[in-house]
Amino acid sequence: MNLKNQGNARQHVPISALPALCDLPFDNSFVRELPGDTETTNVPRQVRNACYTLVHPTPVRAPKLLAWAGPVGEMLGAARPDSLTGPAVEVLGGNRVLPGMKPYAARYGGHQFGHWAGQLGDGRAITLGEVIGPDGISRELQLKGAGKTPYSRTADGRAVLRSSVREFLCSEAMYYLGIPTTRALSLVATGESVVRDMFYDGNPQPETGAIVCRVAPSFVRFGNFEILTAHGELETLRRLADYVISQHFPEFSPPSTAASHISSAPSITDKSTYARWFEEICRRTGTLMAHWMRAGFVHGVMNTDNMSILGLTIDYGPYGWLEGFDLQWTPNTTDAQGRRYCFGNQADVAHWNLTRLAGALAPLVDDDAALERGLGIFVDTFQQTWQGMLADKLGLVSLEGESDNALLSDLFALLQEVETDMTLFFHGLMDVPVDMRAGDGATLHDDAALAGFLRRAFYDEQQAFASPHLGLLAGWLRRYIARAALDGAPAQSRLERMRCANPKYVLRNYLAQQAIDALEQGDASVLERIMHVLKNPYDEQPEHDVLADRRPEWARHKAGCSALSCSS
Ligand code: AMP
Ligand code: MG
Repeated sequence: MNLKNQGNARQHVPISALPALCDLPFDNSFVRELPGDTETTNVPRQVRNACYTLVHPTPVRAPKLLAWAGPVGEMLGAARPDSLTGPAVEVLGGNRVLPGMKPYAARYGGHQFGHWAGQLGDGRAITLGEVIGPDGISRELQLKGAGKTPYSRTADGRAVLRSSVREFLCSEAMYYLGIPTTRALSLVATGESVVRDMFYDGNPQPETGAIVCRVAPSFVRFGNFEILTAHGELETLRRLADYVISQHFPEFSPPSTAASHISSAPSITDKSTYARWFEEICRRTGTLMAHWMRAGFVHGVMNTDNMSILGLTIDYGPYGWLEGFDLQWTPNTTDAQGRRYCFGNQADVAHWNLTRLAGALAPLVDDDAALERGLGIFVDTFQQTWQGMLADKLGLVSLEGESDNALLSDLFALLQEVETDMTLFFHGLMDVPVDMRAGDGATLHDDAALAGFLRRAFYDEQQAFASPHLGLLAGWLRRYIARAALDGAPAQSRLERMRCANPKYVLRNYLAQQAIDALEQGDASVLERIMHVLKNPYDEQPEHDVLADRRPEWARHKAGCSALSCSS
């Protein structure tokens, strides 16, 4: 492990000797530096002129540790709790607040499904405090499902086990895939049940309650800025922007504010700096969208309140992983009609969301052309990164010209022709011997033999190996083989490029559901196995091959395994 000792970082400490969570020094710069709600009563209301409201988590009956992400603990410099209950677990369940913590719920608004929704805010997430890890980076610890806040509106402030397991597993899976994301430290059962109408069919049922402690340098969203501009609270807008820049984008921070303490002093950030900061947000968001597309991840609720200002994947709700490749697929039942947030729309929606952010930052930047430039940077970053990743996925040095464009668009059409597993198809392409022309000419002319390299990717093999699909697939593979030969890259480097772009293991929706079902019965072994395998998603791990298989038929229409509601 690389435990760099930078700046104010603590000394290198062997993992076994890491301090307990309760002994970490906590800070609260968000609260210290920014204007808060002057009212502290915990009742739903419209908050004005504030970035947050101070609010404590509501204690739960019997907090019990269900899972702990060791590497996240090490990142923070905290030891795994030595029992399933006790002081650290009380903190993670919201029953204990440590010195230095000033728990708060953030105020934000957002555009939901294309419409301004007004104030939303942390209705069930409460940030406890910040801690500087051994790497010198400050990160917030936030409990999701920690009880009501002034932003809860009519909802209960709680979270169910199934959605908490999904957030815990997926944030870690994304991290190991190399995709920017918030992290998850722990999963705690509350010992209380939560009533949810999972199918929105008028049948609410009690479900197991849980709390995830999630971790990120910041949970600030586009919506934190939108709400301030919407209400004309421009001084608070300026202070939030200066805070985020000084804490999280020090490269844009004037030297005197880089070490924070921006407080209410007049801004020394000039308009062009805000514009360059916006460009960086666009760049990061563009990179993030390319990663989602590469891995077949569909967020499912890309409202502007679910878009991280740091370009992280944030708020794991009714997300899903593509099984059959389908640009139109959305995991979110609420989105089934409009398909606004379907797989193939994600970059366009990100652009739309960034345009809303541009509107919110306009009073600071005061230069529409500069904001337009930022949006252009999003488009360029996404296109270049996605093209580069597609080239990697195909094992090509780069994609250029009309014939490569046609190769790609024909592939996307082909993948939707019969149900073809995205992960298995691209992983299977590594088995296609692209130097075949020199060697085995017979295979090259045998449609079924060629398609055979990809057999595992097809949900209906009979259909895949019948006309017209077989001929189309074999024809495409011949063009692909010829194209790869033109590249002339050594086989080893081609395979390495593909291996790093094409995971073997992703958090298939039914796998997450299996972890949930087992945990509901008190068995954490399924979750632990999945966590273990997803730590090396690009490695073969043959003993876990079964976790790489295509979705079994029983899972096709089972709740939680295909489409999900927002009910969590
Ligand atoms: P989401 O769709 O999960 O991003 O949530 C949208 C808004 O609803 C946010 O303000 C959430 O904090 C709030 N919210 C979602 N679920 C709950 C809940 N169970 N209790 C309180 N607020 C919630
Ligand atoms: Mg949200």
